Amino acid sequence: MSSTNDIRRSFLDYFESEGHARVPSAPLVPQNDPTLMFVNAGMVPFKNVFTGLETRRYSTATSSQKCVRAGGKHNDLDNVGYTARHHTFFEMLGNFSFGDYFKERAISLAWTLITREWGLDPSRLLATVYHTDDEAFDLWKKISGLPESRIIRIPTKDNFWAMGDNGPCGPCSEIFYDHGEHIPGGPPGSPDEDGDRFTEIWNLVFMQFEQEANEIVGNLPKPSIDTGMGLERIAAVLQGVHDNYDTDTFKALIAESGALTGTATTGANQASHRVIADHLRASGFLVADGVLPANEGRGYVLRRIMRRAMRHAHLLGAREPLMHRLVPSLVAEMGGAYPELVRAQPLIEATLAQEETRFRQTLANGLKLLDEATGGMKPGETLPGTVAFKLYDTYGFPYDLTEDALRAQGFGVDRLGFDEAMAEQKAAARAAWKGSGAKASEDVWFDLAEANGSTEFIGYTGTEGEGEVV
Ligand code: ATP
Ligand code: MG
Ligand code: MG
Ligand code: MG
Repeated sequence: MSSTNDIRRSFLDYFESEGHARVPSAPLVPQNDPTLMFVNAGMVPFKNVFTGLETRRYSTATSSQKCVRAGGKHNDLDNVGYTARHHTFFEMLGNFSFGDYFKERAISLAWTLITREWGLDPSRLLATVYHTDDEAFDLWKKISGLPESRIIRIPTKDNFWAMGDNGPCGPCSEIFYDHGEHIPGGPPGSPDEDGDRFTEIWNLVFMQFEQEANEIVGNLPKPSIDTGMGLERIAAVLQGVHDNYDTDTFKALIAESGALTGTATTGANQASHRVIADHLRASGFLVADGVLPANEGRGYVLRRIMRRAMRHAHLLGAREPLMHRLVPSLVAEMGGAYPELVRAQPLIEATLAQEETRFRQTLANGLKLLDEATGGMKPGETLPGTVAFKLYDTYGFPYDLTEDALRAQGFGVDRLGFDEAMAEQKAAARAAWKGSGAKASEDVWFDLAEANGSTEFIGYTGTEGEGEVV
């Protein structure tokens, strides 16, 4: 059985042997795109190469890119612990052609890697194409020999990618793996496609058109390729399990979380251990890339991730800070591929220990308040927004933590009421500010503070300028 570390290496070796430059992962904080909260796809560091703003010494490249999808348009936070295939932090393996090869070689390289190098059974594989992309449909037929019934035409945005309203765009083609009848879920394009049976493992994007104001205005002079494959998903396939959380890396982290809390890792505790393992990775990698917990912006996304894991640790019965004690196993699993994790280990541990110590001062009382408030509620009812706001304001519970805490009992949260309570508090702060008499400039200050997003909302309403997929 190949380890996740072997699989990453094997992907990069393969594309290097096919002439691609091997490019290290860029940091999670985007260097070239201020509208984007975190790098969320392998192509992000290459955006300017695709648009032609920047040139490199190579025309094809391969990378394993650190990605976080926990805010903005791509938010997989709520899936974590509940689907077999979503993480907040994951690695996207990719190969890229900057005006070099196009559809035929992209499909052929992908098919050869998964079926010949890695030996996947073609009868388990399906491909999707954008409904109008006959060229891709025919190429799949020719190259893979898949029957037409397993080359599925998809008419939705899922199979059309755009960098934004302006710039490169084009159809994409996704490769799915069928984990078998015993897993619930339908094939791509079917009503129950969201199950875990048919897992999307690889997305090939064919950049071939130019867009202006959301309209296609012509062909790109040099069509390009951008692909993204989830390392954790392909590791599950190659390790013969259907669930990412049963792969070697996650099993090691979850075993450690079980050992340190003295709890079983299956049954009722399963989701908690998964959330802890996932959020440990996200927290470790974000701190290693210079993000620290804060009350706004990127730092607040990190704080939300950390505190959510910390509530689950509490749920498992941890009476002392736990997360920092898991860092050595994270470094043991992933420090070889990402030396920045080794270098930052002391900082990651100290940051987690401090955050958990702080949060634990209010966590138990907050949970008590939550218990009291939900005491008379029936499943399907929603917690009043004012209570969620008090938990946020007084007890340091990020909104989505409250939501996550109530999910198991089938309760929702009144989001509108929460927003109103937040707006009221802001208005009150503004009214209470008598200040120095220099009224006009103080108004400007408040406006600036709001315009710059010095509230905690950026984490989940942050704007992102990038397109839908890879
Ligand atoms: P899904 O439909 O499963 O949410 P996606 O279409 O949003 O995936 P893409 O944007 O196409 O994903 O990203 C390329 C690849 O990255 C996917 O094919 C998948 O293998 C992987 N991937 C995407 N999101 C996640 C995630 N949250 N956790 C782990 N892997 C992911
Ligand atoms: Mg998705
Ligand atoms: Mg998808
Ligand atoms: Mg996709």
